[in-house]
Amino acid sequence: MSRKLEPFELFAIRYAKHTGRCSSDNFVGGDIHESASDLDYFVWVARRSDKVFVMDTGFGPEAARERGRELYRLPTEALNLVGVDSASLDDVILTHLHYDHAGTLDSFPRARFHIQDAEAAYATGPCMCHPFLRHPYDVNNVVSFVRKLYAGRVCFHRDVTELASGLTLHRIGGHSPGLQVVRVWTRRGWVVIASDATHLYANFQRRLPFPVVYNVASMLEGHEALRQLADSEDHIVPGHDPLVMQLYPPPSVELEGIVVRLDTPPSFRPTPG
Ligand SMILES: [Zn+2]
Ligand SMILES: [Zn+2]
Repeated sequence: MSRKLEPFELFAIRYAKHTGRCSSDNFVGGDIHESASDLDYFVWVARRSDKVFVMDTGFGPEAARERGRELYRLPTEALNLVGVDSASLDDVILTHLHYDHAGTLDSFPRARFHIQDAEAAYATGPCMCHPFLRHPYDVNNVVSFVRKLYAGRVCFHRDVTELASGLTLHRIGGHSPGLQVVRVWTRRGWVVIASDATHLYANFQRRLPFPVVYNVASMLEGHEALRQLADSEDHIVPGHDPLVMQLYPPPSVELEGIVVRLDTPPSFRPTPG
């Protein structure tokens, strides 16, 4: 039945980078003396004739400065590169509320924000008394999110929701209790935007948890859930891996190194390093 669905075009757009990381920044049990992969920061777009969904809203210059990240372009500028105007967009999926996924909400004045119940409860509840758990959140983003809620612009989801035929949300948890991934029907089959369910290919391939974590067991089970949801491991798109920019083709030469098409098969399979 799903074969008859109009597929979504699917893009990853890179807007920022973090360099100088060590193994213990990327893997629980990693060596502090061993250098490790950079992190890239993305927003994602799923688009077809009747719908456009943006996944995550990134961060702006203030957060980049505070946390030592290199900001290449504002998330809204990143979206413009694939013809998406944040001012007129109707639907934004927030995979979770961490600072690098849920900033710049005011740049989406019309949008409904789709989030898991568990994420909103966690980010505004007693766990935020602990500095370790609240560190990945930015209070300004959370306050902005609550303002959208009180303006009637938040849609809550619990576990699994079909937002449109060919696009479903799935709560994974682990990294944060309400982390959700997005399963998208494309011309190459079901692709899963994993967001922080796996930061890097190596996290799920080597079954190694990322150190920013709420529940390690759920994070590891989440790696298995990704395999269940995607048509193959080649259909899983990690949330922060710089390899994504090498594996997939740009939509045009001008956008090389900035935008890739995830609805095209990857050119190779990364080996667990
Ligand atoms: Zn996160
Ligand atoms: Zn992240």
